[in-house]
Amino acid sequence: MAGDLGAHVRMDEQNTPFVDEPLITDLEGYEKLEVPDIKDPKTRSHVLVEGTGIFVEALGKEVVTAAFLEGPLLALTQTRGAEYVFKDMYDNDSSRKAVHAALETITDYDKEMVKAFAEKKPAGLVWDYLWGSYSCLGDTEYMEFEGQHKYAGCLNELVQKEGMANCIHNCADLPHLDTQIKAWKPAIYSMAYYPLIPGSPSAKEVIQKGYADVSLVGGNIDPQGFVRWKPEKMVDVTKKLINEVITELKARDLGGRYCIASGCEVPPALSTKLENIQACVDTTKQFGTFA
Ligand SMILES: [Zn+2]
Repeated sequence: MAGDLGAHVRMDEQNTPFVDEPLITDLEGYEKLEVPDIKDPKTRSHVLVEGTGIFVEALGKEVVTAAFLEGPLLALTQTRGAEYVFKDMYDNDSSRKAVHAALETITDYDKEMVKAFAEKKPAGLVWDYLWGSYSCLGDTEYMEFEGQHKYAGCLNELVQKEGMANCIHNCADLPHLDTQIKAWKPAIYSMAYYPLIPGSPSAKEVIQKGYADVSLVGGNIDPQGFVRWKPEKMVDVTKKLINEVITELKARDLGGRYCIASGCEVPPALSTKLENIQACVDTTKQFGTFA
């Protein structure tokens, strides 16, 4: 999205694309943002919509398919640079107003994307609401700059209105689970786990606190493991997670729902071992069922 708004995006062959030249360099830049024409075949947005159509057609009858889209605050931080956006939020009234003006424009852009994806009929749409993290924003700030109805609230509703399951991915260390799961009630919530960060919610805690009663929670294998581990270690890690999840689900009379999965994107690198993906899937099929 940042690229189609005008920022320069570096596309390495074996890495996730990232912005190396932000578009917004001053407060006026926020106000000047415009929703791009997503029907223009030169835009990445168009490519994503068409690509989603291709995989839905090829795989939609076999697996659950989903479009993937960045939330307004994530797209804005990529267009301006996160440290500047967080500073501008609080610098003064006019900088705060400028941030909101840009978020409104990007929300309109997101709405166009949701409608375009809906025409391709994926089962769901996954939001990347990355900044719903207590290490960046408290509840009040998150509500003002993303959580409120005119941003994420209306986008979540639009996804469902357009006939797709509303799903959220958040790989933050300290995610806003009460807002993003308990208040928004997405069909699927995908999340990571950071064992070294105090307070990072484990699968056990997420189930114990009732979040998996509301949404199907997906997680939380370390994505780097798909590159670094040997398949034997992937089997061990997957088994351990299955055991943790089954124990907790049984303790709640199987009330919750949990999907064994990577905590974030499996790295799009040639060094990612396909055997590790296979090992994770096979182990889950073998040990993840219970009467
Ligand atoms: Zn992620």
